[in-house]
Amino acid sequence: DMTLIHGGPTLVPPPNDLTVPQFFLDGSSAHVTQPERLADTPCLIDDDSGQKVMLEELRERTRCLANALKFHWNIEEGTIATIISPNHIDYGPCVWAIHRLGGIVATLGPMLTSWELVHHFKIAMPSIIFVHSDCLSSVLQAAAVVGLQADRIVMVDGPGSSGPRGFRNLDDLVHEGSSLPQFSERVLTQGEAKSRIAFLAPSSGTTGTQKVVAISHYNVISIVIQSATFNRINEPYAPAAERRFRPGDICCGFLPLYHIYGLVYNLHYMIYAGLTLVLTPKFNFENFLASIEKYRITHLTLVPPQAVLLCKHPAVKRYDLSSVRYCIVAAAPLSATLTQELLEILPNVHLGQGYGLTETCGTVGMFPLTQRIGTLGSGGQLLPGTFAKVVKPDGTLAKEPEVGELYVKGGQVALGYYDNEQATKETFIDGWLKTGDQVYFQNGDIFVIERIKELIKVKGLQVAPAELEGHLLTHPSIVDCAVIGVADEYSGELPMAFIVLQPELATAADTNIHLANELRSGIFKHVTDVKSRHKWLAGGVRFTNAIPRNPSGKILRRLLRAQLNDSPSAG
Ligand code: AMP
Repeated sequence: DMTLIHGGPTLVPPPNDLTVPQFFLDGSSAHVTQPERLADTPCLIDDDSGQKVMLEELRERTRCLANALKFHWNIEEGTIATIISPNHIDYGPCVWAIHRLGGIVATLGPMLTSWELVHHFKIAMPSIIFVHSDCLSSVLQAAAVVGLQADRIVMVDGPGSSGPRGFRNLDDLVHEGSSLPQFSERVLTQGEAKSRIAFLAPSSGTTGTQKVVAISHYNVISIVIQSATFNRINEPYAPAAERRFRPGDICCGFLPLYHIYGLVYNLHYMIYAGLTLVLTPKFNFENFLASIEKYRITHLTLVPPQAVLLCKHPAVKRYDLSSVRYCIVAAAPLSATLTQELLEILPNVHLGQGYGLTETCGTVGMFPLTQRIGTLGSGGQLLPGTFAKVVKPDGTLAKEPEVGELYVKGGQVALGYYDNEQATKETFIDGWLKTGDQVYFQNGDIFVIERIKELIKVKGLQVAPAELEGHLLTHPSIVDCAVIGVADEYSGELPMAFIVLQPELATAADTNIHLANELRSGIFKHVTDVKSRHKWLAGGVRFTNAIPRNPSGKILRRLLRAQLNDSPSAG
């Protein structure tokens, strides 16, 4: 069928009877030709301390932690554990210990406020919470609201840290676990990896507030093999020049591991490919440049804001970036102009975009090996093992290069939204994932034109308009509202609110600038009080008489955007 686009077969069929740690830690050679890690190259380097962690140590820490978790809490099939921490070298062991015991890992952002945590805990109540001391106070507040016991908390900061007393910490558990009885590993039957949940990852999907995507063990293994075969790393004897990832290469690791991009492409893919990941807890641009120089980083996995900084920041020319060979930008669009500017900074690299969603375990398309520079403005080409169709507004299938909504199918398409049948039914349709993205294909390249779904992306992070609208409506001065994304050079988009005030207030604010400003800052604060920073109304607060809606009550965001273009300076 000409209207179905196929990324070609996965050259290596992903095993469907292994868990994530069995595949990534125990070696997958029986199933797949995996690049061999060079002797003495660490898996991880902690960017702050310089501490190096070898694969063997990760495996051993995972084993000991699993023993201790089993001993203290009897983790079993389906137990949910959550990690609320900035990037940390024990992030992996926490994940894999839970997996080895048959549990599920819910990854949550370290910046989430207690209100946001409560929302997530209510969707998927964790039995164990791995938490960094930076996040402890929000976690404790949220835990109290939902009735989670403090003895379920494990601090990921080591004993030498300034972390609070009275909580168990990971180092102690690992130490203790080394002399505890050996846990029994969860073993899967043929095909079982396809239905067992490995991760619950936050996403708002195409509409509504935050949900969590249920990602199977198979999804993670599949996406890594799909990407690896796409980049020919499964052919270790292919000419070195034709391979983008070679054992011994070094990748930056500041992408948050709770987000699917970091979780898949920093933690798991790089371990699989035999690379060393320089793991960074808190992104700081100058430190990032210094780390590239210090560790001779070869691979950059970026989101557009870092691309902007690389192009504009004066510090760039003070650092030697000549070690970099490969740079991928993903999670939000990178313009053709910015791509060209980036090439002036990194003239010899392989540079292009990746496109995907949490619901596709990170990736649908990537720039192929045949292109040193990905086609400008393109989100790449379909990974092997991926099918795509483009559906026009009238419901018929588009032919190249007609525009429509992208649907995808493949081993990386997640199971659905956890405990949310309605949302799952609307988005995962007969094996196809409805992406909510408006695209067209040309010569195999995917071009993402626009988001049809109600999603704002700030620095690659999701902001669900419905979540902010619901919260704004709890403000006593507000009778109606709508949130849209406005373009921003650095962040990509920023959330901006259209507000309909109570009639008396609206009249008063119309003639009283002081009052209007006060109301605006009150509304701004109403959001900052309970929402994490990327959701703040940094795009502005504008008063309006009415929110345009269609007959069924759906907000006509397109009209709001048009209003903005007509009078950009107002409000
Ligand atoms: P998330 O689940 O947070 O990864 O967000 C997925 C959404 O980000 C996609 O549906 C797209 O709207 C957007 N996105 C991701 N990568 C790209 C890209 N390279 N170009 C344009 N949009 C992108």
